Order: sequence, then C-alpha cells, then structure tokens
Amino acid sequence: MTWAPALTRHETDQDVYRAEVSKVLSSFGEDTFALWEREGHTPREAPAALGGAGLFRRRWEDGAEGGLPRLVAMCQEICRVSGGLALVAMGHSEIFIGALRWLGETPSQFSLLEDALDGRVIGCFGATEPQGGSNLRGVRTTAIAEDGGWRLKGTKRYISNVGRADYVLVLAKPEKPEHVSDLSLFLLPLDHPGVSIDGFFDTVGMHGCDVGQITFDVMLPHDALLGRPGIGLLYATHLLQFERLAICAQLTAAADTALRLAVAYARRRTLGDQRILDKQAIRHNLASCRAELWNLESRLSELVSLAQRNGKMPAHEISALKLTAGESTGRIIDTCMQFFGARGYSKNFPLERLWRDTRLARLGGGTDEVLSDLVASGLDRHDPEADDLIARLEALDAPHNGPLVRDN
Ligand SMILES: Cc1cc2nc3c(=O)[nH]c(=O)nc-3n(C[C@H](O)[C@H](O)[C@H](O)COP(=O)(O)OP(=O)(O)OC[C@H]3O[C@@H](n4cnc5c(N)ncnc54)[C@H](O)[C@@H]3O)c2cc1C
Repeated sequence: MTWAPALTRHETDQDVYRAEVSKVLSSFGEDTFALWEREGHTPREAPAALGGAGLFRRRWEDGAEGGLPRLVAMCQEICRVSGGLALVAMGHSEIFIGALRWLGETPSQFSLLEDALDGRVIGCFGATEPQGGSNLRGVRTTAIAEDGGWRLKGTKRYISNVGRADYVLVLAKPEKPEHVSDLSLFLLPLDHPGVSIDGFFDTVGMHGCDVGQITFDVMLPHDALLGRPGIGLLYATHLLQFERLAICAQLTAAADTALRLAVAYARRRTLGDQRILDKQAIRHNLASCRAELWNLESRLSELVSLAQRNGKMPAHEISALKLTAGESTGRIIDTCMQFFGARGYSKNFPLERLWRDTRLARLGGGTDEVLSDLVASGLDRHDPEADDLIARLEALDAPHNGPLVRDN
C-alpha cells in the first residue's frame, strides 16, 4: 500500500522534499515492500535510488542541524510504507554519511562521502557486540596500529542492513586502552578479505531490514580511522542524537498512519445500524490517541527548530522525546489495531506491521532504561530557586499550634 502525503495549501521546502521522497517510493511498485519483508532484506537499489534522486545530498546540504526538517520528512514518508527501508536509510544517512561529513579528512574519505551521498556506496553502523550494546565502554573489538595501517579484530552483532551494505562503521578500542572510553571509529569495507558475515537474526519486526553479525580480522590502511583516535565514543554519542530524532520522526508517521486508518475503518464499519466510530468507547479512545500524537508531533517540530536555531542538538530533550514517543506510539498503534478487530491482527492490513515495527524504538538507538538514565542525569543539578524554597519550607515545617481537640 502506498500512501500519498497530505496536501497543504502553503508548500514549504519540507513539503517539496517530502513529495520527492514519495515519488521515489512510488516508483518501487505496490508489492515491492511486502516482497522485501518476505526476503528479509531491502535491496541496495532502494537506498541507491534515494541517493540517485539527490535526497541524501539535499538532506545534508544545509548542514547537520539545518537539514533536520528534510530528515524528518524522509523518515516519515519511508516509514509509512517500509520500516525496513526507513532503518536502512537512517543508518546510512545519519550515522555513515553523518560521520564522513563531520570527520572525513583524507581524499579517500571525501571520495567515499561523495559515493555515499549519491547512494553508490551504502553504509551501516556496528557498535553492539555479543556481550552487550548498552554499555559501549565494554567494546572488545580491537584496533592495533601496525606497519602500514590498522589491524582490526572483533565481532559485531545486531548490525542493521549488514547483508546489503558496502561499509560498516566500527567502534573499536586499542590493545591497551588508557581509559574505558578510549574508543575509535573505523571504516570497514564489508567485502574486505577477512570479514565474514556469520548470519542473521529473525526479529519481531522490521523484516525488510536484515540484522546480522560479522566477525573480522583484517589489515586496514591508515585512513580507515575516521576522526581522532580515542574519542570515538564521543563521536558515536553525537551521531546517535540524529538517529534518535530520526526514530521519533518514524514513530510519529507510523502512529499517524495507524490512526488515520483506524478512523477511516471506524467510519465504515457498522454494527447493527451504528458505525463503530459512534461507540463512545471507541470514539473517545481515538480522540485521546489523536491528542497524544499532536503533542508528540509538536514536540518533534519544536526540537527540530531548537536544533536549527542553536546549530546544536538538544541531547537530553531528544532522548526524552524518544523515550516518550516509543511508549506512546506503541500504545496508540495498539489501540488502533484493537478497533480493527481480527483484521488488525491479520497481515492483510498494515496495522500488524506498524505494531511490530515500532517496538524496536524502545531498544535501538538507546534503550528506554539507558535514555531514562541520561534524562535523569540532567535532572541531578543544583537549582538555587527550588533548593532555597525547599530549605525555607523545611525550616517552617512543624505542626500548627491550634486547640487540641480529642474525642476520647
Ligand atoms: C532490530 C535491531 C537492529 C539493531 N541495529 C543495530 C545497529 O545497526 N548497530 C548497532 O550497533 N546495534 C544495533 N542494534 C543493537 C541495539 O542497539 C542494542 O540491542 C541495544 O543497544 C541494547 O543492547 P543489548 O541488546 O546488548 O542489551 P543489554 O545492553 O544487554 O541490555 C539488557 C537490558 O538491560 C538494560 N540496561 C542496560 N544498561 C542499563 C543501565 N545502565 N541501567 C538500567 N538498565 C540497563 C537495557 O535497557 C535492557 O533492558 C539493533 C538491535 C535490534 C534488535
């Protein structure tokens, strides 16, 4: 099912870009996205087509923060039709291109960036390892400087699109790290001798994007290192802000699609002589979903404007939005699925796809628990006004000395 963007009276740059994304998506044909889901991969021609239409270039031409409205439009349009392609495009654009644009310094890195922008080369991101993904300080992959370059050795697990990408951006530590966050970023070509794809994982959702594991023991040239050594974790943390915002955009689009379909269904479906939309339990629940989604959409726009204005990503606020959006959109889509009755549970309707695809948002790009910790770390700060008021209230906090009245 393709889904045309809603028409607006005053077209913005974001609307024009949205229509361009939608045009590329409609070129794939009605059944293509379902085919990718069945095959467990999105062919590399799909992100290549987005690149070929200049969509990655345009996302980045006004800078990382300046291009956020286009990023939001890209994620939203793709997510309406394919969660898998949305995941592929997000990793390629926000992590791989984002890293090359920010940190690229050598002629071969510049040339790789050009290829990535045009979709001739597709990249993905390998941070997680079998022993864990939340604590990246525990990375075990090593990068050892040797004559002629770097020996990169390790295993990376749960890499989205590793089956169809050309490069993976790998987070690795030196043989003898000076401290636990002494990590660096490396560009690893997936067809390099010494890289093996160990296999893929069957997942709850996002079936159009493979998720796999690789093991490698390779010798790479000096300029496989991206950016300065030792601060790869800081780079990755910054890049993840863009991924988190992209996930929020995907979530709002998935919830909006589910809600519009649920309302349309509730207007058509009759029980006796009444539409189900006229049942108060359904009507009020859908209204409540709409209200919740408007709040998420407004907050997303606010954060995009804030980042554009300051030229800086508001890290705590983005994490807080992803935390809220993951949980809220899960609830909204679940409610919409409910009102479809058995049809909602059937693969003949897109509700089940949206329901399972959005669950990943509470794990990928930082789990709910990790993001809660991050938001909480921003709370634990000195607040002179509130601290002073609490101190004064505590000083006055005593029982009042009115007349003692006892019944017994
Ligand atoms: C479909 C899919 C695609 C993915 N794609 C990629 C990818 O492209 N690249 C990549 O690098 N990774 C990817 N991942 C991995 C993902 O980022 C990790 O799954 C995630 O970071 C969590 O790591 P983990 O699975 O090892 O869980 P763990 O880190 O083992 O966590 C287990 C549980 O403990 C909780 N926990 C961990 N630390 C804390 C803490 N400090 N306080 C409280 N609770 C805590 C977690 O929230 C979680 O509930 C993908 C995962 C999936 C499922």
